[in-house]
Amino acid sequence: MALIKLEEIIGKALLESHDKTVKLYGITSTGRKIDLHGYVMSETSKNYFHKVSAEYEPASKNLIYGNCDCEAYVYFGSPCKHIIKLRNVYERNEEKINKNSVQ
Ligand SMILES: [Zn+2]
Repeated sequence: MALIKLEEIIGKALLESHDKTVKLYGITSTGRKIDLHGYVMSETSKNYFHKVSAEYEPASKNLIYGNCDCEAYVYFGSPCKHIIKLRNVYERNEEKINKNSVQ
């Protein structure tokens, strides 16, 4: 597990959750799916973040693929809470993000 310190995350997030536990840094649209990249705060180590990515299909709202460095993901391989959180923050703000990118 390679947690990242808050100070090591450089640059302004595209999107941040209100509680500041989720920071979205990259959104790439590739055809029908969207690649999300960001950092999600560890629940056990405050101010430390997991590097998380998720592939998301907006039409079905399904997660296609996710990657995280937490123990749950490494041992079980299934989408962990960090991947879900990253996806949820994107989903909640999808309209706002799309509007911003057009203007
Ligand atoms: Zn995780």
